[in-house]
Amino acid sequence: MTDVLAPQSRSVTTPIPGPRSQELLARKAKVVPQGVPNQLPVFIAEAHDAIITDVDGNRFIDLGCGIGVTTVGHTNDAVVAAVQEQVARLTHSLFGTTPYESYVRVAELLAELTPGDFEKRSFFVNSGSEAVENGVKIARRFTRRRAVAVLEHGYHGRTNLTMTMNFKPAPYASGMGPLASDIFHAPGSYPLRDGLDGAAAAKRTIWYLEKHVGVEDLACLVVEPIQGEGGFIVPADGYLPAMQEWCTANGVVMIADEVQSGVCRTGRTFASEHFGWVPDLVLSAKGIAGGLPLAGVTGRADIMDAVHTGGIGGTFGGNPVSCAAAVAVLEQVASSDLNGKAQRIETVLRPLLEELAAKHDVIAEVRGHGAMLAIELVDPATGDPVPTAPISRAAGEQGVLVLTAGTDYNVLRFLPSLAITDEQLRDAVGVIDEAFAAL
Ligand SMILES: *Cc1c(COP(=O)(O)O)cnc(C)c1O
Repeated sequence: MTDVLAPQSRSVTTPIPGPRSQELLARKAKVVPQGVPNQLPVFIAEAHDAIITDVDGNRFIDLGCGIGVTTVGHTNDAVVAAVQEQVARLTHSLFGTTPYESYVRVAELLAELTPGDFEKRSFFVNSGSEAVENGVKIARRFTRRRAVAVLEHGYHGRTNLTMTMNFKPAPYASGMGPLASDIFHAPGSYPLRDGLDGAAAAKRTIWYLEKHVGVEDLACLVVEPIQGEGGFIVPADGYLPAMQEWCTANGVVMIADEVQSGVCRTGRTFASEHFGWVPDLVLSAKGIAGGLPLAGVTGRADIMDAVHTGGIGGTFGGNPVSCAAAVAVLEQVASSDLNGKAQRIETVLRPLLEELAAKHDVIAEVRGHGAMLAIELVDPATGDPVPTAPISRAAGEQGVLVLTAGTDYNVLRFLPSLAITDEQLRDAVGVIDEAFAAL
């Protein structure tokens, strides 16, 4: 497959956007609403591993992976082969009508790969938002309670329930209410800003939940072990296990939203493992099927089985082609040592980012795990957040796609594919270094 694709190096030969992308952008503007943005104004023709090629032949080093989706690499050989094989045999039957094996196989793999040795069940939907929705439905059914707690700076999706669960209304929910009821945003753990250790941060969260929400009404606490859109915020050690302990003691279901952090992104199969956290339910999506749409809710059998027959499901959920792709990804966890690859990326990328931080005093922190690293920019004189969009834009023009994040838009996040080479990482960080001139 590789031989028909573009060379695996950065190359920009036209202005960005190039002429063919400009034509397509003009067509897009006539038929696609402006609410759908495009961060890098180029149209993509093909991609492999860590390189995406646009319609003008420009090649970009991809540090975004479509927000952490193509973790195993664009057009990963095993995923392509599995999809090609499956698509000619069965594209749909609806698992709830007539089941098929690959769905069961993904559930078996997730039972092994998610934290905790207890008996588990998994079921599948189409998107991360839908996984969050279903995690909440299951927790409410199990506990017979109504309230849902989330953390400040969290992100959970774009459906009505999940946009209510997001910390930021803008841009996800502004003007699009009414929002869902019974959602509570508790303070979490953000060491750079709150300076609290895990125990102190957990004490603060628990105080909020007990006093403001009320334990007898609280069905679940939904937490990203490393907050994604919020800016790759890594909680202080001890925070997550302390919260799980409190949830267990109080009959609250604690749900790990691992939609962005899961599936070997961080050097552990699920990021919860970094913190010694064994959640009741784990939500996975983005990286799970190598680019095909699939999301899963995995969790303790007693909680998952609390829902009556027919109480959860959906038409496309656990599509056979997506499940075949997910099997191809999850089998590579061991066979290709995906966690080792993410750890290798950290050993190359973190020192490069720390060198950047030594050079640019606007970088307040380098943080994250594995292939989920970020830098947060703060004006050293005023303490104010410094938006990262100009850096991302300038890097894009030089052939590096890097995404922004953060409640204050002042984080640059690195989500490269695990197939990225050391040389590509060094090249990309060199470009970003120069892009600081755009600030
Ligand atoms: C992306 C994301 C979601 C939403 O997933 P979609 O597939 O976009 O619906 C939910 N939670 C987290 C942590 C995410 O990063």
